[in-house]
Amino acid sequence: MKTTPIVRQDPEFRGRELSVNKPARAVFLDRDGVVNEEVGYLVHSCDMRFMRGIFPLCQTAQQQGYKLIIITNQSGIARGYYTEEQYQELTAWMRERFLREGVTLDAVYHAPDHPDYPASDPGHGSDWRKPGPGMLLEAQRVFGLDMAVSVFVGDKCTDVKAGNAAGVGKMFLIKGVETQDCDGQYERMQDLAAVERWLTERG
Ligand SMILES: [Mg+2]
Repeated sequence: MKTTPIVRQDPEFRGRELSVNKPARAVFLDRDGVVNEEVGYLVHSCDMRFMRGIFPLCQTAQQQGYKLIIITNQSGIARGYYTEEQYQELTAWMRERFLREGVTLDAVYHAPDHPDYPASDPGHGSDWRKPGPGMLLEAQRVFGLDMAVSVFVGDKCTDVKAGNAAGVGKMFLIKGVETQDCDGQYERMQDLAAVERWLTERG
């Protein structure tokens, strides 16, 4: 019985077939200072104030087929300011908050370690924590990402260094924390709305 030719001539089907074969791309987001306002060792959800423009940016990126992946250093765990369990509770709350805005976060990677506290490394190695590229490279492996067409939005030079080392094609530095220039390749952006406009123009 002949079945397939009619389906294969359907241009919509061909479009889907192509998109399946296309490597995935991601918008990586630093957390503190990009997703939420930097308060210094955030523990409780009541202190998590989302940055203006973060939800529209994520909605647009999601519509364009980007994976949404948070990449965050959490040395507060190594320092004993909060526990891994408290961090995970906050992360679960944050994911729910995104869901209420129609946004599914594909992954949240965190580095609980700090070089001053060697015992805090759960075995990922020294490249895991930013400015190392470890978390980004793990995401690349897990999601089969094409890093050259992926985007990283950060607010510190350590984000820039990690993004460059991982081969992320477009690195944005949100105006705020870093008043000095960073080494490496990046573009300064006034705010998250400007990043969203860039994504819309790129398509
Ligand atoms: Mg930050």
